[in-house]
Amino acid sequence: MNVNKEMFELGNHGSAIRELFEYGRKRKAEIGEDKVFDYSLGNPSIPAPDVVKDTLIDLLTNKEPTALHGYTSAAGDTNVRNSIAKYLNDTYKCNVDGNLIYMTCGAAASLTISLNAILNENEEVIVNAPFFPEYRVFTEKANGKLVILDADVPNFQIDFNKLEKLINKNTKAMIIDSPNNPSGAILKEEVIIKLAKLLKEKENEYNHPIYLISDEPYREIVYDKVNYPFVTNYYDDSIVCYSFSKSLSLPSDRIGYVLVNPKCNDAINVFKAICGAGRSLGFVCAPAMFQYMVPNCLGKTSDINIYKENRDVLYNNLKKMGYDVVHPDGAFYLFVKALEDDAKAFSAKALDYELLLVPSDSFGIKGYVRLSYCVDPDMVKRSLSAFEKLYNSYKK
Ligand code: PLP
Repeated sequence: MNVNKEMFELGNHGSAIRELFEYGRKRKAEIGEDKVFDYSLGNPSIPAPDVVKDTLIDLLTNKEPTALHGYTSAAGDTNVRNSIAKYLNDTYKCNVDGNLIYMTCGAAASLTISLNAILNENEEVIVNAPFFPEYRVFTEKANGKLVILDADVPNFQIDFNKLEKLINKNTKAMIIDSPNNPSGAILKEEVIIKLAKLLKEKENEYNHPIYLISDEPYREIVYDKVNYPFVTNYYDDSIVCYSFSKSLSLPSDRIGYVLVNPKCNDAINVFKAICGAGRSLGFVCAPAMFQYMVPNCLGKTSDINIYKENRDVLYNNLKKMGYDVVHPDGAFYLFVKALEDDAKAFSAKALDYELLLVPSDSFGIKGYVRLSYCVDPDMVKRSLSAFEKLYNSYKK
């Protein structure tokens, strides 16, 4: 076989999440859609807010077609980038700059571009478990080495004792993801302050920047009025990777951005490296029509009350049944302790009750399963008796 072995392996084995999703598709065809309780994929189940459709219709009707479908500059349309900076400055009282915003095809592109921009051969990227499994793929393809910081159980914040020991002269970046996929936890302001202090100390000790990459596709999917600490206000060498996939329910339209903190050491050159990475990865520019949609939609979300209702029904009922469940403050995932040590075996057992639960191993922690509750509320209610039966099967 005369192809790149690494790429072959990635293509040959889907992620655990995708494999379970594909299993679900087949199973639904066999026994009926309504008989399978599919919690596998983080695919938003709520339609985009009306402002998305209205803006797109307006653009399709009134914008010159060659502009609407044409290339923009590689970094994106200037007005769009400035409108994002204004929105962020108004919302988070930060002082960011449209010139340091690079429009991307979603958070995955934001991450690959950022990692390729900053990493040299074998430099290390620390990820805080549990983490989005693609971080490994993106980091390794950018010639970096992924280093896992063990989860801070049961709070799912940051274990600073362990983090301090992991940082060394090769550490180039740390990725955080808050609200977190898969735990739903939001990093508290005091944790971000402590993290910024530690990273700053380590930058001084090793005499080079350690970038804090904040992956924020769930930034607006926050319940119970929890305060969201915006990283550029706390740490200079920060890079924000954002996406509209989840907040606006537009995962296949591929639109997001990378933001370099203006206070970042050598910010303009970091931004140039971001542009170079986007170019070398062949992104050309983010889709123009969806860039032009952005200014009208900033700060808007799909109706997240439906996710909140699902969260409450699942969290309260699973707790009542006896499951050990992490309370999610945001995103649309519930992290549940498996009823045996081996999460894969537990996930396989759940299939006997037609429950599709993702084992936690690929998230960098053992012994949990993830439920994506961006699903029909009726399915959630119908699935409760299956969870009960699964629980009881372990009591025997
Ligand atoms: N980061 C996290 C934490 C995610 O959960 C996802 C998607 O599920 C992504 C990045 C990728 O998002 P996008 O579809 O915008 O590329």
